[in-house]
Amino acid sequence: MKRSDYLKSFRLRIFLVIVLAVLLSATIMRAAAGANLRDRMVEQRIKEMTEQIRVTASRMKSYDFFHDTSSDVINAQLSQLSTVYEGRILVMDQGFRVIADTYDISIGRYMIGEEVIRCYSGESVTNYDPGSRYVEVAVPVTEKDGETGENIVTGIILASAATDPIYRTTDDIARRGWIIEIVLVVVMFGMAAAVAVLMAKPFERVSKAMGSVVSFEEDLPVVSDYKETQEIVDSFHKLRQRLKTLDESRQEFVSNVSHELKTPIASIKVLADSLNMQEDAPIEMYKDFMQDISAEVDRENKIITDLLDLVRMDKGASGMNVENIKVNELLEQITKRLGPLARKSEVDLILESRREVNADMDEVKMTQAITNIIENGIKYNKHPGWVRIVLDADHQYMSLTISDSGTGIPESELSHIFERFYRGDKSHSKEISGTGLGLAISRKTILLHRGSIDVSSVLGEGTTFVVKLPLSYIKEGGA
Ligand code: ADP
Repeated sequence: MKRSDYLKSFRLRIFLVIVLAVLLSATIMRAAAGANLRDRMVEQRIKEMTEQIRVTASRMKSYDFFHDTSSDVINAQLSQLSTVYEGRILVMDQGFRVIADTYDISIGRYMIGEEVIRCYSGESVTNYDPGSRYVEVAVPVTEKDGETGENIVTGIILASAATDPIYRTTDDIARRGWIIEIVLVVVMFGMAAAVAVLMAKPFERVSKAMGSVVSFEEDLPVVSDYKETQEIVDSFHKLRQRLKTLDESRQEFVSNVSHELKTPIASIKVLADSLNMQEDAPIEMYKDFMQDISAEVDRENKIITDLLDLVRMDKGASGMNVENIKVNELLEQITKRLGPLARKSEVDLILESRREVNADMDEVKMTQAITNIIENGIKYNKHPGWVRIVLDADHQYMSLTISDSGTGIPESELSHIFERFYRGDKSHSKEISGTGLGLAISRKTILLHRGSIDVSSVLGEGTTFVVKLPLSYIKEGGA
């Protein structure tokens, strides 16, 4: 098998489609789930921090931390918070001055940031920057004013913490996820391969069944797994029926050919043998028998010529030599040539040209086709009798009507007369010479010219052939 054939494999393509679909959806789901988990954990962390700082803020009030920052309880709580959240906590008073710093580096400095200003309006502010992976929480410490009873902001607790622990946790989960994923991918590969093999099975059965067919009689299996496989089997069955018909007609043709070719040879053999067996046969007898032998040789020759003509025409229109022909003149030539035969048989040949007709045709082939039909009219006629040829045309087609006063053709034979080697009623076919190929050749020629031939007949009264031909020849496959 070539490399590209492997790529065309139905099995491989199904396998790839399943693998791609599963991998793609798994990757998308994984990315979505991963991001979601991290966001939720950060959110949770901010909530926790805000809550804890609020608790510390309310304690500050009871310990009066903004006037005395030495409270051990508060300082211990602040440093505990900064350890837990791996971050820094700053406390600022009303004047933006840092009064406590878990890093101990900014005490006494002033800090005015966006969060701090927003926080002074009394709301908690949270901020998460995924770029630097930092969260910031600013919580106001408020006290009720003794005179107005309004809440006033006395200070701010600002906590910033890295989200590294969260990233570490989610990365850890993702790492463990990978192991599960690899196991799943292996299992999925196996399953995809199994599904691909199973899905391709019916097609394999179809191809095996077709490959193993050796005779026309064998039953074809039903492969109804898919609508498509059954359609393939049905189409194959139809094709096989057509081939069967073709094979039968070929066999019949071959046996007819051998039979027809053997008949004159058998006659020649009988004639020659009887001459050989006779001692002192008179010269007249020799002459007589030799004439018969010569006639049989002519007959053999005619059969072979006709057969070759038919076989050549079987190849299609490629051998056609089409020219624009004056049909009136052509018919005159044909009737002139058949004159002696007609006179011998006491048959009147009447040619009636209703108009001038020019048509595209292969002159030699068409001459033979028309001659065959007229000759039949003369051969299968009464004596005396007549054959009438009428030529007419419209703007597209020419028509040729050839009728005779002859014996007519029985209804049962009408559908067979165009078959190869078919000869009517055997009693008269012995007396009238012929190969049974004449009308087959005529019909084939007419069909090659994209024309038609019809026949009607009344037994004992005569027969009429109507030939229709297009005036201009259209090539095979042409418009
Ligand atoms: P052939 O004339 O060599 O026998 P054809 O193919 O020309 O073969 O004709 C087939 C048969 O059709 C003839 O044997 C004959 O029985 C019948 N047939 C053809 N033309 C006529 C006709 N004009 N009148 C009566 N029978 C005809």
